[in-house]
Amino acid sequence: MTEHASPESVRRDVSGWLAANWDPGLSLREWRSLLCDSGWAVPHWPAQWFGRGLPAWSESIIAEEIRAHGAVGLPAGVGMSLAAPTILEHGSDQLKGAFLRATITGEYTWCQLFSEPGAGSDLAGLQTRAVRDGDEWVVNGQKVWNTSAHHADFGILMARTDTNAPKHAGITYFILPMKQPGVMVRPLKQMNYHSSFNEVFLTDARVPGDHVVGEVNKGWNVGLATLAHERRFGNIVSRWRHTGDGGRAVDEARHEHDEYMETYKWYPQRAGRVDLVVPQMTERGLSGDVSLRQDVMRLVSMQRIAGWTSERARAARALGKPPGAEGSVGKLAMSNIARLAAHLHGRIAGADALLSGPESVLGGIIAEVLVSVPGQSIAGGTDEIQHNILGERILGLPREPQ
Ligand SMILES: Cc1cc2nc3c(=O)[nH]c(=O)nc-3n(C[C@H](O)[C@H](O)[C@H](O)COP(=O)(O)OP(=O)(O)OC[C@H]3O[C@@H](n4cnc5c(N)ncnc54)[C@H](O)[C@@H]3O)c2cc1C
Repeated sequence: MTEHASPESVRRDVSGWLAANWDPGLSLREWRSLLCDSGWAVPHWPAQWFGRGLPAWSESIIAEEIRAHGAVGLPAGVGMSLAAPTILEHGSDQLKGAFLRATITGEYTWCQLFSEPGAGSDLAGLQTRAVRDGDEWVVNGQKVWNTSAHHADFGILMARTDTNAPKHAGITYFILPMKQPGVMVRPLKQMNYHSSFNEVFLTDARVPGDHVVGEVNKGWNVGLATLAHERRFGNIVSRWRHTGDGGRAVDEARHEHDEYMETYKWYPQRAGRVDLVVPQMTERGLSGDVSLRQDVMRLVSMQRIAGWTSERARAARALGKPPGAEGSVGKLAMSNIARLAAHLHGRIAGADALLSGPESVLGGIIAEVLVSVPGQSIAGGTDEIQHNILGERILGLPREPQ
């Protein structure tokens, strides 16, 4: 199929399938099961694993057709963005069989258990230990900043399994069942008053012996694969595009989406709310401020350029090219845009930008921008780490001193 597929034939085939099979009266699980069995849920995955072995460009055509038919697609979140692609690339057939389908249907939800109090940028320094005990692994340690851990079924976990090996060589990548007595999840209160991430305490937590992704002590490269997906997609992808009524499957998908996205509702503010800069400048009568106009245009230009960089990355991906510098460049651009946007919101609103509550500027949105933007340049690898990656891997500069 792969050699003969063209965008036109893929569009025709999926459209025909949707016309014959989309049934809004089904439950969301029933509908996604049907989609999964048809191979159209993940067309770029191998046929053996719920896909059709189509090129990566097929994904966006299918998403467009699903929208055009008023149907619903895949669930948002860490499951489809990070866990499933990593298991597909590095997991055993047994793990693929156990986890991929239920992740595609949205039955299983996921979180990422990588960072620790003493290991963020230096992730390989992680101290959480996993020790083999009969048929199981027993895990002890603490993770932190784990988004959505408070409602996840499973965590993708990196833990140390060999304390004598060099730090990158003694790490294993596990799938941890979250709903068990050894896992305590404690939400953290952020400075913007949201609570999207958590501390996760692991005390004799149990992992089935075969829940290892890749090989024991070779989890570092598996973790890097997850991080590459994170740089490319961000750890959440909202695929929700529905408007209006649509029947049971749509209602359930809306509910699933709204519930999941509750955790992420401050993310637009984290990105700086560039969309509000010009309207706010106009509303406050500052459109004639020459210096402000220069900076606003700089912001808008940066945003356009970042958009083109991500288009270029998408096009390269669709052609099956390996990831280049775009992930790090794009992530840095998002940080710079968010910071400049927050600065301009501050200049436009003045001291009012500091107020929150119903009578403040835009009901507190601008204040939320100011306290949310720092998260943009930390999550998924800080700006400094992106600079290091670009310097060493793209520009070929000497490695930084350890
Ligand atoms: C919104 C948000 C969501 C997150 N979600 C998750 C999640 O779901 N799961 C998860 O596991 N983690 C998550 N994280 C954690 C995130 O991955 C870490 O915060 C990040 O990797 C930085 O680690 P750290 O906080 O320990 O900072 P540190 O690594 O301690 O860094 C402190 C400062 O030192 C600088 N620095 C460190 N090393 C170097 C170096 N080699 N060269 C130059 N500068 C350096 C950093 O840039 C930074 O400014 C999330 C973070 C945020 C903000």
